[in-house]
Amino acid sequence: MTHIQEEISAITSSLPQGVRLVAVSKFHPEGSIEEAYAAGQRIFGESHVQELQRKQASLPKDIEWHFIGHLQTNKVKYIAPYVSMIHAVDSMKLLQEIDKQAAKCGRVIPCLWELHVAREATKYGFTPEECRAMAEAGEWRKLEHVRLCGLMCMASNTDDMEQVRAEFHQAYQLFLELKAGAFADAPYFKECSWGMSHDYPIALTEGSTLIRVGSKIFGERVY
Ligand SMILES: *Cc1c(COP(=O)(O)O)cnc(C)c1O
Repeated sequence: MTHIQEEISAITSSLPQGVRLVAVSKFHPEGSIEEAYAAGQRIFGESHVQELQRKQASLPKDIEWHFIGHLQTNKVKYIAPYVSMIHAVDSMKLLQEIDKQAAKCGRVIPCLWELHVAREATKYGFTPEECRAMAEAGEWRKLEHVRLCGLMCMASNTDDMEQVRAEFHQAYQLFLELKAGAFADAPYFKECSWGMSHDYPIALTEGSTLIRVGSKIFGERVY
């Protein structure tokens, strides 16, 4: 087994039932993805449209590509024909554009709302209050070509693991609240995308169902 394959099997064998690994392959070459694929990994995460386009064209067609980065509305059309999940939906305008492009392809694209819980200031992601308001407003119900499957977040970039835990906990509490509230009649609202290389063990104790792990598997990003 190669290093990549050892890491994949170590991570996946430690995951509770129902939790899936998104192997984050951004900035790593196709050969690294092929190694992971040979070990049985099928879900890969990318965060740049051009790079994803290139990889999707040349790699096996049964790979599930998850788009995990910030997505510009004018680029949705490129990935709409094949993307399996869009993790970081950070505006209703983006959700509407995904709906429109998915409709053109006759698809329904699973999406997650990006929640902002970290301390760092960022222009991306919704506050918990904004998520509650959107869930209640119900605009998402009218979009027939997107399926809101849950929430995604990133914790603060810190060594303070209690801080990280508190942020994942906050995200999970909001998820449970929405699931019992506005999404009570939406059984597909079941995904919690949190946890990266350095903090996924904590994320697993706070409800994560999708961990997004890159450097632990593939090493430091090479280009
Ligand atoms: C790059 C990235 C990851 C993976 O980070 P690692 O620290 O390499 O595991 C996870 N999520 C998002 C949104 C990313 O951009």
